[in-house]
Parts: sequence; C-alpha cells; structure tokens
Amino acid sequence: MKNFQPPKISVVTLGCSKNVVDSEVLLGQLRLNNASVVGDVDDAEIAVINTCGFIEAAKQESIDAIMEAVRKKNQGQLKKIVVMGCLSERFAKELSIEIPEVDAFFGSNQLKDVATELGIDYKQELLGERQLTTPSHFAYLKISEGCDNPCSFCAIPLMRGLHRTKPFEQVIEEARLLAAKGVKELIIIGQDTTYYGLDLYGRHRLDALLSEISSIDGIEWIRLMYAYPAKFPKEILKVYQVHPKLCRYLDIPVQHASDAVLKSMRRGITNRAMRDLLHEIKAGVPNIALRTTLIVGYPNETEKDFEVLCDFVKEMKFHRLGAFTYSQEEGTFAYDLGDPIPANVKEERCATIMQIQQEISAERNQSLQGVQVKVLLDRREGEFMVGRTEWDAPEIDQEVYVRNKDTVSVGNFCDVTIVDTTEYDLYADVV
Ligand code: SF4
Repeated sequence: MKNFQPPKISVVTLGCSKNVVDSEVLLGQLRLNNASVVGDVDDAEIAVINTCGFIEAAKQESIDAIMEAVRKKNQGQLKKIVVMGCLSERFAKELSIEIPEVDAFFGSNQLKDVATELGIDYKQELLGERQLTTPSHFAYLKISEGCDNPCSFCAIPLMRGLHRTKPFEQVIEEARLLAAKGVKELIIIGQDTTYYGLDLYGRHRLDALLSEISSIDGIEWIRLMYAYPAKFPKEILKVYQVHPKLCRYLDIPVQHASDAVLKSMRRGITNRAMRDLLHEIKAGVPNIALRTTLIVGYPNETEKDFEVLCDFVKEMKFHRLGAFTYSQEEGTFAYDLGDPIPANVKEERCATIMQIQQEISAERNQSLQGVQVKVLLDRREGEFMVGRTEWDAPEIDQEVYVRNKDTVSVGNFCDVTIVDTTEYDLYADVV
C-alpha cells in the first residue's frame, strides 16, 4: 500500500532498572520490525506506558503518566494507549474499569502480547537484542526475574512472580552483544541477584557468571546490585579478589537492623549476623563501597528499634545509602499490621538517617582530597565533564565533576585527581 506510514510509537518507562531492560527489549523488537519509534510521547500516535507498582509514590507516578496519555488521546494526538509492567500486573482489572480510555493492559512478563498489540511480530531469535536507553557505554544486565524471598513489606513477588534464573548461556550471549555494541560497564540486576542459579541449576552460580562476564573483551567494569544479605553466597568474595573488572562495589539492601523489626520483616537474618557479614565482605574486599537501602516507620518499629538502626548506620559507615518511609502494600504479609506510625514521624526518622549518612559521606569524601581515581565519563554539563568512580552506580550514587574537560570524552575512562569535595559529589582535574 503506497505511502503507508507506520504509527509513531513512544515507550514511556517508569520504575526501576528492571523495567528499563524490559522497555529496551521492546524497543529492540520495534526497531528490528521497522516500526516507527519516537523518543518523545508528544510526537507519538501510540503510547506504551511501562508502569511501576512498588510503593504508593511509584504507583501514583504511573497513574499520572497514564492520565497524561489519556489527556493527549482526548485531544486527538494519541490514537492508542497500551499499559504494561508492574502496576498493570497487579491492578489491570481495576484500572481497566477506572480508565477505559486505555486500549490494552498487559502484565510485567507479556512483551510478546504487547508486540502483537502494536502490530509487530515478536522475534524470539532476537534474544539479547535491545535498544539501549542508557548512555551507550553502560547497560543493565538482568540475570533473573521475580523473587522467592518472603519480605513482609514487599509486593514485588506479587508483580514479578517467583525467582526465575535466566539461563547462563543467554546472559553471557547478551553480555557479548552489549560489549560488541561498545558497552564498557555492565550493571548486574535482578530482584535478588545472589539467588542466581539455585532454581535452575540447584546451586549458586553468580560467582561463575561474574567470572565468565569478566572474560568478555570490551567490558571493563562489572557492577553487582541487589544482593540479598540472608544466605549471601560468600564465594563471590573470591571473584572480587581475582577479577579486577568487578567494581569494588556491592549494593546490598538491608532494610533494617533491629532484630524485632528484621523478624517481622521476615528478612531471615539478625542484627549480629548482618554486621558479621558486612564486616566479612569489607575484610574480604578491601576498599569496597557498600550501598544499602533502609525502610523507616515499619509498623512495629519502636523508638528503641530506630535507635538501633541509627547506631548500625553509624557503625557500618555505608558508602552509599537510600532510606524510604514504610508504604503499606495490599497483598503483602505486613499489610494486616496496619500503618500505625504517623507520616510525620516516618519523615523525621528518614531525615535523621539521611543526616547521619550525610556526615559519613562528607567525611569520607574529604579523605579523598588529592587522591587519584579512575572515572567513567557519562556526560557533559556546562564547564564540566561528569562521571563516576567504580564506587558509584549511575543515577543513584554520587558523581565526579571533572574541570579541565577538553582532553577527555563521554563514554571513556580517565584518571583524575580529586581537588574538592561536597558531602555527595567530588570535583577533579584530569591527571
Ligand atoms: S528480596 Fe525481598 S524486598 Fe527484594 S524483591 Fe524480594 S521480596 Fe522484595
């Protein structure tokens, strides 16, 4: 048919890096099916909204994005709205009644159906093919889906299902494809990366996977995220010691430190065991940066429990830390505990934790004055080139502002000397 113009499709991604990978896989399928993909939803005729349903704030952000698309459809710009991802996985029925303007709802594991809805045929043989939405020098590598852990506050297993290890060969093939595209930093993600292999191979295989990825030419940094403290496979420490490509970095969300709260959260670990594990990791991998995530205001958290948490943060001196206020989520084990701690108390506790962390971070950064570090440059920003050390993940950790930028370029590594610091950022000159 002469002059047929395929509809312009835009994929809007909300939520976590796992959602980013799903959107990139869909974009890869669209591109290789010659669909017309546009970056900005304002230029689109079809909008695909990849939603997040983790906590209240994330759910609201997803609903706002859907309602924005509905507004564009009512104005005649958009012809079709397709919603996918975690919020839709959880509440498709309710959403389809409340927002009838949406043409179709899909869950978090229905890319093939989304492709069909968009009029393209999902090419299974394109496994590993993705249209990166991150800067081309780093990419997320999702090694598993879902989670088997029983954390009481968490709705993720309701949206992503139980743990499914991605076959070893598939992950390695995807990593090779990404390296061939010029990716230098691979960020290893999953709901619980430390569970890798147990369901599919009956044994932990994360260490073997990390070692194999380390042998891929072109990959220079490997970053491990989302480690689960209970049942932590200590053989990983050996990989850190043997493979310098594995950044001295570990994201290990601990969520809390009081035994009473950890027990109610069903985290399967005690304060003592957690501290022993973290000290063992620090001893096993000198100069490793530990990142963690904490929840404050959990239903049974007393003032005393919160003090224990503050002392824990002061003792462990995490390099990077994020704190969230408890969000009561339907269908979770903790839901029936209610949400007794007032919002202002939760906010105060969150601010207290972040104040402690700010002082720790400022002190650590000051100790880096005059130190030479290797930086991967992510972007230009005004008079600076902005990058990260091996101790910083993109988008969530601190950055290095490099002054004399003319000799370096985005996507490349360079050695710099730290010349100034703030509590959360570093300033540097190229060596
Ligand atoms: S480990 Fe716990 S918090 Fe993380 S995704 Fe699994 S159930 Fe949720």
